Amino acid sequence: MKKRTIGIMGAMPEEIEGVVALLSNCVEASMGKRTYFSGQINGIDTVVVFSRWGKVAAATTATTLIHEFKISELMFTGVAGAISDNLKIGDIVLGKRLIQHDMDARPLMKQYEIPLLSQTYFESDSTLLDSAANAINTVFENNSLYAVIGEDELMEFNISQPRLVIGDVASGDQFFSSKEQKHALNTQLPNILCVEMEGAAVAQVCYEYEVPFTIIRTISDTADDKSHIDFPSFIKKISSKYATEIIKNIY
Ligand code: SAH
Repeated sequence: MKKRTIGIMGAMPEEIEGVVALLSNCVEASMGKRTYFSGQINGIDTVVVFSRWGKVAAATTATTLIHEFKISELMFTGVAGAISDNLKIGDIVLGKRLIQHDMDARPLMKQYEIPLLSQTYFESDSTLLDSAANAINTVFENNSLYAVIGEDELMEFNISQPRLVIGDVASGDQFFSSKEQKHALNTQLPNILCVEMEGAAVAQVCYEYEVPFTIIRTISDTADDKSHIDFPSFIKKISSKYATEIIKNIY
């Protein structure tokens, strides 16, 4: 069996800070404007890295994790804008399937189809998805978020009973910050729960290299005219804490 090495990518430096702090025997390596932190979490070899933003950045980071660090599985943790009206800020989405909403090679192939792969969606690994779901449910049930995030901060973002939702996630090189953008995506792909900028790129690389992956996204905004407000504040006060608590419980 291949030696287990977990790769953890985050799209925000603040988010991976807490996860890096969980590493024992931490060693740093710099490559291509990224710092890879290697060590162990609960005795399992783990490499943590800030992916930077967008599909290209995420894809090159995932490839480096696979080639240089020989990871056997990949977890992505980050934030996303809600497309589904059923999602609130503070909810967590696990991406069951990932699609690139800006892939469009018509008339050569169908809209959203990935060239040469003859597929539109990438499925995340069911075992990793289940263990992430268990970890998230444990964090929610034990109220451990309340221990690390102040009540004032939860109130500031109107977070009371965060939920886990599993479903389809769309990625592309656009920050969604208008009602029109949100509406257009919702009309074209009504199954999409949330939008972000990296997940489906990581999914494609992992599919091509046969590395199991899972994508974890905390809802930071509603992907409309209000999405830029409090974005940095949300990352610092809320999502960085979520990421650390979830990862702690996955091991
Ligand atoms: N750090 C910048 C914004 C980074 S880009 C700032 O402080 O303003 C946004 C990151 O969050 C990307 O990694 C993307 O995956 C995710 N994201 C969150 N909300 C999003 C939205 N409404 N549209 C697209 N990506 C979003």
